[in-house]
Amino acid sequence: MKILKFGGTSVGSINSIQTLLDILKQEKGEKPVVVLSAMSGVTNLLIAMAEGAAKGNDFTAELAELERRHFEVVKSLLDIQNQNPAFTRLKIHFNQLEELLQGVLTLKELTPKTRDLVLSFGERCSTVMISKIAAQHFPEALFVDASELIKTDSTFGQAKVNMKLSEQLIRGFYAENKGKMLFVTGFIAGNDERQITTLGRGGSDYTAAIFGSALNANSIEIWTDVNGMMTADPRMVKKAFSLPELTYTEAMELSYFGAKVIYPPTMIPAFLKKIPIVIKNTFEPEFEGTVIQHVCKASNLPIKGISSIDGISILNLEGSGMVGKSGFSGRLFSLLAREQINIILITQSSSEHSITFAVQPADAERAKSFIEQEFELELLANKLEKPEIEQNLAVLAVVGENMKQTPGVSGKLFHALGRNGVNVRAIAQGSSEYNISVIISAHDLAKALNAVHDAFFIQLTKTLHAFCLGTGNIGKTLFKQLNAHTEFLQEHNGIQVKIAGISNTRKMVFDADGISLDTWEEELQASDEKADLKGFIAQMKNMNLPNCVFVDNTASPKPVEFYEEVFNSNISVVTCNKIGNSGLYSQYKAFKDAARSHGVDFFYETNVGAGLPIIRTLKDLMGSGDRVQRIEAILSGTISFIFNNFKGDANFHDVVKMAQEKGYTEPDPRDDLRGTDFMRKILILARDAGYKFEAADVEIESMLPKACLDAATVDDFYAALKAEDAFFADLKNKAEASGKVLRYIGKLENGKAAITLQMVDESHPFFTLSGSDNIISFTTDRYKERPLVVKGPGAGAEVTAAGVFADLINVGAN
Ligand code: ADP
Ligand code: ASP
Ligand code: MG
Repeated sequence: MKILKFGGTSVGSINSIQTLLDILKQEKGEKPVVVLSAMSGVTNLLIAMAEGAAKGNDFTAELAELERRHFEVVKSLLDIQNQNPAFTRLKIHFNQLEELLQGVLTLKELTPKTRDLVLSFGERCSTVMISKIAAQHFPEALFVDASELIKTDSTFGQAKVNMKLSEQLIRGFYAENKGKMLFVTGFIAGNDERQITTLGRGGSDYTAAIFGSALNANSIEIWTDVNGMMTADPRMVKKAFSLPELTYTEAMELSYFGAKVIYPPTMIPAFLKKIPIVIKNTFEPEFEGTVIQHVCKASNLPIKGISSIDGISILNLEGSGMVGKSGFSGRLFSLLAREQINIILITQSSSEHSITFAVQPADAERAKSFIEQEFELELLANKLEKPEIEQNLAVLAVVGENMKQTPGVSGKLFHALGRNGVNVRAIAQGSSEYNISVIISAHDLAKALNAVHDAFFIQLTKTLHAFCLGTGNIGKTLFKQLNAHTEFLQEHNGIQVKIAGISNTRKMVFDADGISLDTWEEELQASDEKADLKGFIAQMKNMNLPNCVFVDNTASPKPVEFYEEVFNSNISVVTCNKIGNSGLYSQYKAFKDAARSHGVDFFYETNVGAGLPIIRTLKDLMGSGDRVQRIEAILSGTISFIFNNFKGDANFHDVVKMAQEKGYTEPDPRDDLRGTDFMRKILILARDAGYKFEAADVEIESMLPKACLDAATVDDFYAALKAEDAFFADLKNKAEASGKVLRYIGKLENGKAAITLQMVDESHPFFTLSGSDNIISFTTDRYKERPLVVKGPGAGAEVTAAGVFADLINVGAN
């Protein structure tokens, strides 16, 4: 025989009740016992009505709504001739409820006893209604008021069940009604005086387990609105997935720490009788759901799930009075137990100097004042400090029996939290090692759950949330590349990049679920948020998303001012903007330090040679203990292009003009020819190679005669260049005569950096450089016979965007 329990949403609408009947029709063999919850939202509505009435608020509108919801179901699902008896039964209940609430309103008082009585109408109405509907298909259907069978003490709101007596009563009743199909009210019970009590919020699951235990059921099925017990609450973690199996202990731990899909006490009667609990989805009945049982198949997951309780408070007790005093915690916890204050979690430092425990916020003040009374003498003698309450916290717990034999579980947990800037206030690990719980700020909970989920369930894709600044050539191309590679990235790298924010100099737009890479331009255009860099950063911080990256695709100094703030918010930075790293050394150092101290990444591969692996190569050389002896490089695509075309009959003026026409130069070509941009790259390389250089430490030999440099306008510059034709022709001829070519080369050696115009012969690795390519050679302690050379296209939107893309993926991999 089976117990089938249907939760609030499963009885919450006409459609779901029809599905429920279909599920019952599939049942073969012995008639199941059906346990029902109140219709979804009804228990909350009853609480609101009762608490409102106690404050003098009118409840007629809510009562009418309650009637309407039940009557609507009766009208749709009962044949017309059967409707009247149902209306009459329900109406009696609603009249009783109205009288009761009227009493509360008059007295302006709501006792726990009355509250339970009010709440009982939720389950009583739904069960009466559904048993009548079911009777049309199952003539043996029988309504059962569980308050007659489940007997409890008088702890209203959370009554303690007398299992022995209840089981006897249930068995007796079942035997008397053999062959009947019982429809039992969940959640409610009764005390010795036949007063109604309740089993705690979510308690219908427990009702099912009590019946299951009494009747030695083969299984207890909990029908709800999700595909079983999942790795996390699917409302908080979109990537949560269903678990086929769990042990009672695992299910207990997960539900105790907030996985509301099953009420924790449910597991005990099932565990004692070894009755499997199966969690199924009413809205997807074919899905297997989750089986909770004694032994599970071996699983390779280090943890089974992550759950959380939002909105808790902690109390901190500190003082020398605790050290070595064996009775202290005994006194403390007996006191709290006596006052019925439920403790969610306890941690004690090994010095015994402090105890921290978590309670529901509603209990915090009470707990504090009880402690102050109990420990008055210790407080007076300064052996104990006044207890402190901290609010707005949450518990996050990772759970799984495999944790015991898997090293590194807590390392992974704390790494994910740390990297995302989630501060851990207290930690508790059950000695059973089935659970590690941390207390964090409630504000960080969603981020923490998702980050921890990503960290543990690596078979899923990891989501990066990117906030992108700049929609010029590089920004645009990056979005195009990301769009084209979405599937590949998920499949091969296990990474999904969501663009959570975009801004250019005019507008900005945000979407935590990811802005579409097909329509981002239209969305940005249509946004009514004006661009505001400060606001952009603030919004990025506020959204508090996990695995967050700030992508600066501008060439502006303004975003650079915010880098430190971004790092300090535990957000990684990826940028092609050279201004940050080529400013003052102190700034460069501050970025590095901030990123390191917050455990986030600062990737800027495209600062030098666009997408070519130059920065990364240098970093790997340095990181593996190698030291740079010499770096030689041509890192200006523009200048490469000019010298590669300045041969034979060509004159310098025409080649520069052509380079400009092809879009290879800055609007004023002198910005390239002066070597400033090249200098920045050499400076960044020198710094990454360990030198504390400022810009002035890089000597630049200008390749332009003074007249060209001094020209007032671009046109004047070209005129001056023309006038200097002979000078350039002379350089070229000299080079060609000796079988050499002209190259503008940056060099770092012996603590000196310089950029000079040189003539090199064919033995030099830079001799054959073609087009607008970049080249760099590293001579190091390890690569000293022949240098390590990186060469290839070092400019252009495609390769630069690809470099930014690669940096982004590297953040994802960390
Ligand atoms: P019912 O009314 O059927 O008893 P509940 O609302 O009590 O349903 O419980 C189901 C809800 O539990 C789901 O809708 C889901 O949002 C929440 N939940 C929280 N944690 C988990 C989890 N780990 N797995 C599945 N559901 C969870
Ligand atoms: N209706 C009750 C509640 O909402 C019991 C339950 O649904 O399990 O808490
Ligand atoms: Mg429930």
